[in-house]
Amino acid sequence: MPNRVSLIHVEIPMTEPFRISSGEVRTKEAVLIRIEMDGIQAWGEASPMAGGFYSSETPDSSWAYLSAHAIPRLLQSRNFHPEFVARELLAEECDRFAAAGLEGALWDLTVQREAISFTQALGVEYSPVASGLAVGIYPTIDRLIQACERYLADGYRRLKIKIQPGWDVEPLREIRRVFGEIPLMVDANAAYTPADFPVFEQLDGMGLLMIEQPLAKDDLEGHRRLQARLSTPVCLDESASSPETLRRAIEMEACRIVNVKIQRLGGIQKAREVIELCAARGIPTWMGTMPELGLASLHALYLALHPNCTYPTDVEASRRWYQDDIIDPPIAVRDGWINIPPEHHARPRIDTAAVDRYRKRAAEW
Ligand SMILES: [Mg+2]
Repeated sequence: MPNRVSLIHVEIPMTEPFRISSGEVRTKEAVLIRIEMDGIQAWGEASPMAGGFYSSETPDSSWAYLSAHAIPRLLQSRNFHPEFVARELLAEECDRFAAAGLEGALWDLTVQREAISFTQALGVEYSPVASGLAVGIYPTIDRLIQACERYLADGYRRLKIKIQPGWDVEPLREIRRVFGEIPLMVDANAAYTPADFPVFEQLDGMGLLMIEQPLAKDDLEGHRRLQARLSTPVCLDESASSPETLRRAIEMEACRIVNVKIQRLGGIQKAREVIELCAARGIPTWMGTMPELGLASLHALYLALHPNCTYPTDVEASRRWYQDDIIDPPIAVRDGWINIPPEHHARPRIDTAAVDRYRKRAAEW
């Protein structure tokens, strides 16, 4: 096997459109990074949503950044180690999703070279991971309730409802009426402003686990003012963009919980840094998703084993969103728990036939 780096853009049909306050998509795209070196094959996944509605990154922009910049620079540096990403790419403006994907492949290369597992590399122990169900925005409350019924049958450990102005207090009241005292939270994806504080004061009486990212990404001061008015914890997600930002947010008491996303932070290393700085300050964390395919989801599951990740992860069963997946076996949820299959204990096992089946384009160096 010659030494080479490949990019493979894949596209997999979704089981239902993924819809949040800023848009919707019907297929899941990802840019896979494959590093072949000294007989080892290592994989990573850059996983921005098409349409870029969580961020400015898209599959095309990640592809362009990787092929024009990150891969040539990696080949030039010859530093095939995860630290390459933090040191060379994240030190300046970069495509975080692309950086996370490349870093994932470099972790995979490293664990195989050292003949250890991801969990050994991360210093965590296997245990089942609690999984929470996330439910998007539906045209009617009836459709929302039906979707919750359909998926809660899999026993997910909590329910997260996406909200936006005009779709918040009423659907939540109905969820509470139908499903009773289940562990419940909302995610606003930054769709509100401080003028909407009364909405959150109404939600505050509903016994929610947390209110995720109510305000704009950069409005830490607004989050501080809102948190001071609520007994429900505010959880930062979009704002949780770097260890430095989070340190500031925690110092000013702008949140009591943090949603950690490997793709947003630019890789496993930064995600672990965030978890550890939160742990040191008594702030619980949990592993979020963008959502990714199984490869990057497994990376999130490995980090979800960290003792500070005390709330259920957003990683769900592969079949919840995707008609197929690129790992073998796919992720399954039983009674709300994910037992990482033994096939993925050392590292994610890729279904290369599925990668071929869903390939849109590929390039190699
Ligand atoms: Mg969120």
